[in-house]
Amino acid sequence: MPEIKVLPEDVVSKIAAGEVIERPASVLKELIENSLDAGASRVDIEIKKAGRGLIRVHDDGRGMDREDLRLALGRHATSKLGAFDDLYSLATFGFRGEALYSVFAVSRLKLTSFRAGADSGYSLEGEGGKVIAELPAPPVKGTTIEAADLFFNTPARAKFMKSDAAERSHLIRAVEEAALASPGVSFRLVIDGAGILDLPSLPGGMWENLKNRAAVIFGKSVYGGLARVESKTPGMAVYGLVSRPDALASTRVNQHFFVNRRPVSSALLRQALYRGYGHMLTGRHPACALFVELDPGAFDANIHPQKRDVKFSSENEIFKTVSNCVYEELLSRQTAAVVLAPVAGAKPFSPPDVPAYREAGAAPSPAAETGSLFDAAPASSPAAAPGAAPAAADWRAHDLSYLGQLAKSYLLFEADAGLLVVDQHAAQERVLFEKYLGEFDRGGVRVQPLLVPLETELSRSQMETVLKWKDWLKTAGFEVEQRGPATALLRAAPALFYFTQPAFAEFLGYLSEVLGEPEKAAEDMKRNIIATMACKKSIKAHDFVKPQEALRLMEDLRGTKDSYHCPHGRPTLFFLSGADLARRFQRSGAL
Ligand code: ADP
Ligand code: MG
Repeated sequence: MPEIKVLPEDVVSKIAAGEVIERPASVLKELIENSLDAGASRVDIEIKKAGRGLIRVHDDGRGMDREDLRLALGRHATSKLGAFDDLYSLATFGFRGEALYSVFAVSRLKLTSFRAGADSGYSLEGEGGKVIAELPAPPVKGTTIEAADLFFNTPARAKFMKSDAAERSHLIRAVEEAALASPGVSFRLVIDGAGILDLPSLPGGMWENLKNRAAVIFGKSVYGGLARVESKTPGMAVYGLVSRPDALASTRVNQHFFVNRRPVSSALLRQALYRGYGHMLTGRHPACALFVELDPGAFDANIHPQKRDVKFSSENEIFKTVSNCVYEELLSRQTAAVVLAPVAGAKPFSPPDVPAYREAGAAPSPAAETGSLFDAAPASSPAAAPGAAPAAADWRAHDLSYLGQLAKSYLLFEADAGLLVVDQHAAQERVLFEKYLGEFDRGGVRVQPLLVPLETELSRSQMETVLKWKDWLKTAGFEVEQRGPATALLRAAPALFYFTQPAFAEFLGYLSEVLGEPEKAAEDMKRNIIATMACKKSIKAHDFVKPQEALRLMEDLRGTKDSYHCPHGRPTLFFLSGADLARRFQRSGAL
């Protein structure tokens, strides 16, 4: 008896499906790509039950005749690739001929199509890879594909699905990315009967349509901070919309990269983008819809079944071109700003040096380069200010007398014949942070209804996340509500905090990103995140501090667990002892 068996076809097809189809959004992405490959000028999408119930994609593309309809369902059945060498000169999204085959294996599928010139349309129906019915259909231009009951025959996979809200936000993102990449095609998305996106392609050209879409997809506030970039070198074009340096966000959620109009996740492109901002990033993140166009032979999208990874043949050149393209755009704006406002103290922008791209691993992640909230966990030892003695480990042991405020930012105190310099915002953040966490941990966040609710625009997928976390946010003291498809409303906030509208917009945008991968985050990590963010956003209301307020702040700071650091890990204070001062003035003894 041989031990080796050839797997039966239905097992093979389910294995293949597992590679191509990770979740409902992967099905949707494949179906949209097929519609685009068929030359569609509009794509209408209907989703039920977060894609598990139904994913329906209708297009007005060239359609299939009866025979092609049958062939389309076979494995490695494609009209797009003839010989292996064609792989390197492809202009279509598809080429593997595996998508329909895979979707068919794990759903109840119905294809309806009509090709111009045929005597009738046709439809094919089947489930789990078996055709059940074949019928003539009306001659409606294009193709409709309906995938129902996804994963009905692969219960193990169905179990891996995230919550409906999470799957919905992936589905929405798939449409958003396709719409950004194909501004000449109209898209409509309806989920459970509700219109989510309506993105008609209007006359006026690529940029007009791209901008209109960006305004809807990013939300108005992010969109308002975008600038257009464009550059061409032989064999490569880079263009798109990126955040102006004065409009960076605390979140990375609005970054979309495309290579030859395929949405990709590429560490190289992300790093190149960040490098373009040089020193202007300060721990914040640009939004972007950034497109790279290359000869099809200059990259390989074939390395991953879902075609989301790409490998470039000349990484250094792409890195340089992208970062220079972004940098030059920013430089021109910066120069304008310096000319317009020399007295406002605008700093001239120093060019980023653009080293060769280093392979992943050796290269610092953008987060490490720019310092994200997660990386900036509070340091455990008191930080020393350069040139000064370490913060007096015992500052709390001394009486303080208030000397005054410097630059509306620093509070100066005399302590034990030395000078204690306190960053008032950092100190306030620390105090608020611990007070708020204290309330949260005791289960009693004090809440203050807002007289005038604050409103902000989000992207659709951010909105989904926020809604999903609505109840949790309520226990955190934030009453957030949906108002219109992409508008969120803040009705009440913790009494400790004070938000301006732009601060609230950023706060919610950031939260929707960190909460977006929620199952992973432990409860106290989420608490820390929300506390850190809220503190950062909520104060700065008034910068002038009266003496008694300064002293009260120091009393509060005295009571905190880590008075030396703000919640982001930056120092709150440093101390110049009498001996330090004496040394600076080259006195021999202490005062
Ligand atoms: P691939 O896109 O890699 O060729 P698919 O399994 O996605 O493989 O599709 C198989 C074939 O079915 C395609 O090559 C194409 O000829 C045909 N097809 C699929 N969807 C459509 C559509 N919406 N309109 C016209 N033809 C389609
Ligand atoms: Mg395809």
